[in-house]
Amino acid sequence: MADYRIGVLKGDDIGLEVVPEAVKVIKDAVKPFDTNIEWVDLPVGMPSYKENGETLPKKTFDSLFELDGWILGPIGHMAYPKNDEKAINPHPILRRQFDLVSNIRPAKSCDEIPSVHKNVDVVIVRENNEGFQPDRNMYKGNGEFMPNPDLAMSMRVISRRNSHMVASTAFELARQRNGLKKVTAIHKNTVFKLGCGLFIEACQEIAQEYPDITFETAVVDTFSMHLVMHPQDFDVVVTTNMFGDILSDLAAGLVGGLGMAPGLCVGPKYVMAQATHGSAPDIAGKQIANPYAMIMSAQMMLSWLGNKKKDADAIEAANNIERAMTTVLRSKNDITPDLGGKVNTSQMGDAVCEAL
Ligand code: NAD
Repeated sequence: MADYRIGVLKGDDIGLEVVPEAVKVIKDAVKPFDTNIEWVDLPVGMPSYKENGETLPKKTFDSLFELDGWILGPIGHMAYPKNDEKAINPHPILRRQFDLVSNIRPAKSCDEIPSVHKNVDVVIVRENNEGFQPDRNMYKGNGEFMPNPDLAMSMRVISRRNSHMVASTAFELARQRNGLKKVTAIHKNTVFKLGCGLFIEACQEIAQEYPDITFETAVVDTFSMHLVMHPQDFDVVVTTNMFGDILSDLAAGLVGGLGMAPGLCVGPKYVMAQATHGSAPDIAGKQIANPYAMIMSAQMMLSWLGNKKKDADAIEAANNIERAMTTVLRSKNDITPDLGGKVNTSQMGDAVCEAL
């Protein structure tokens, strides 16, 4: 009996190149320990559409309920056939159906890697399932509609439940990290008095449970300027869906780009490793995609599962991956072209395994 059952959903385009690197590194990292992982390959995305006629087959969806967690590669849904209900974008469905309310997106600089700023170590925690995202903020139907050809309306949804959940994730993270022990909640309650007002109220309620963590709020526009100029001032940032989507890409841009932006979607029961970046069709098939984001997303998942199951071995294995990755970045020899290096995707994965 395996200790963990983990799904592997490669996704599209560069997903086929970076997801195998993440699996390879996790396999090597757990080798010295008693942690056993059963890997379960599941079809998804365009390769699945071509083979099974669906981008999210029922078998894949149903199998996920039996897993501890899974790795989802980037999804290139903009290239899916239009007006075919079998060619849906799988990731909002998975985030919603598995109640993956919090999306944790770290941005960490490395002195040896070219970046806009040094000494950055900030995590954006984004609400994942409501806000302005019309494909997931309704029970049925879509939160966007056009009453007539010249008028479009988009609904934004904020609930106390999801705001509490994402705030709890942020405060727990601030407590665990060796950072500034601070949570900054981002809003625009000067305009969205009800929606952002409710979000901030929910964050304040959770803050009461964490007297050891500093809590502050900031308006999204001035915060954006502050983040670009002084990212070192922030530790954990919590915000609603759309603001988080934008700010996490911005934070990635401060530390070396989207290849350096891992992500983890978590809920009360399930966890999904999913990098911030998309499927990068412009570089797909060339073996030049940076595997850092995908490997570190899987590393976060291993750490999260280890903490959940109080499994010191899994936590240690995850810590070892982080150290090995830092060694590889610092060496500057085994990094992909987006970081100024010359090796390919698979060679960078090999270098992490060697450093382990
Ligand atoms: P993208 O993130 O795929 O690419 C943006 C730029 O970043 C491109 O120049 C790309 O080459 C580069 N890039 C991204 N990941 C990289 C990596 N690991 N290493 C090196 N360079 C990397 O965004 P896009 O081009 O706007 O979208 C492409 C497809 O991905 C679209 O279908 C979009 O809808 C989808 N998408 C999916 C997700 C997801 O699955 N979470 C997120 C964003 C976009």
